[in-house]
Amino acid sequence: MQKSKLAAAALVLLPLAAAAQPPGWNDPFPPHRVMDNLYYVGTSMLSSFLITTPEGHILVSANYESSVPIIKASVEELGFDFEDIKILISGHAHPDHIEGNALVKELTGAEVVVGRLDAPDVRAARTPDGEPLPIDRLVDDGDTVTLGGTTLTAHLMPGHTPGCLAWSLDLEEGGRTYYGFIECSLNGRFLRYVGNEAYPNIADDMRATYRKAREIPVEVFVSSHGVFYGLDEKYAKLTTRGEGDPNPFVDPDGYKAHVDEQERLFEEALARQLAE
Ligand SMILES: [Zn+2]
Repeated sequence: MQKSKLAAAALVLLPLAAAAQPPGWNDPFPPHRVMDNLYYVGTSMLSSFLITTPEGHILVSANYESSVPIIKASVEELGFDFEDIKILISGHAHPDHIEGNALVKELTGAEVVVGRLDAPDVRAARTPDGEPLPIDRLVDDGDTVTLGGTTLTAHLMPGHTPGCLAWSLDLEEGGRTYYGFIECSLNGRFLRYVGNEAYPNIADDMRATYRKAREIPVEVFVSSHGVFYGLDEKYAKLTTRGEGDPNPFVDPDGYKAHVDEQERLFEEALARQLAE
């Protein structure tokens, strides 16, 4: 990983108040098929996924408002129409994942799906022009979003935000069905655990979410930031993938290692705060 990316990775998960856009996060990244009808259309640091269907498309995460033109260009580079996006599944309620929701809605008319427990933070958020963000449908743990024969299932993974939702879907390749998982975020490194009046049970939620994360039978692993799932390395493998080579995004062990690492960072941060 380049140095600048490591520095940017350290910034992943800024509190709502520090919404200044980190430099380089919107640099374009080559759009690519992850597997089946799941495509990466995000930027170098901010993931966005397109799920294509015969009845239109689902976009997961609009990111910053300034990310939207880059996402649109990526969708078009893959040969799809941005206007065919029928559903926008909002990212978790931090500005780097939701600020662009209004622009995507304006450009596509998509129905905007938001996790119910994240809704207060989404309602409090604004576009750079001070406009509110749209919410068309609220979803809870276990709810599904279906379009054109593809169904995504919501997994509530609270902690990083109170309503952080991950999404699972079946993906097919080589005659096999894989458990695809678009992770929310398990990053708890920079959150406030001691004296967090806005979210008093945050530490308990984080612990419960790491436990839950280990029970999910993830095979194809992607997440809200590429650094969480080794996007650079896996994309490099994808570009040199020969016939019969495994799909680099099939990575159940990498997923488990990621959960362990994030939990370790959370426990360290918590211990530091308790010692203050
Ligand atoms: Zn976040």
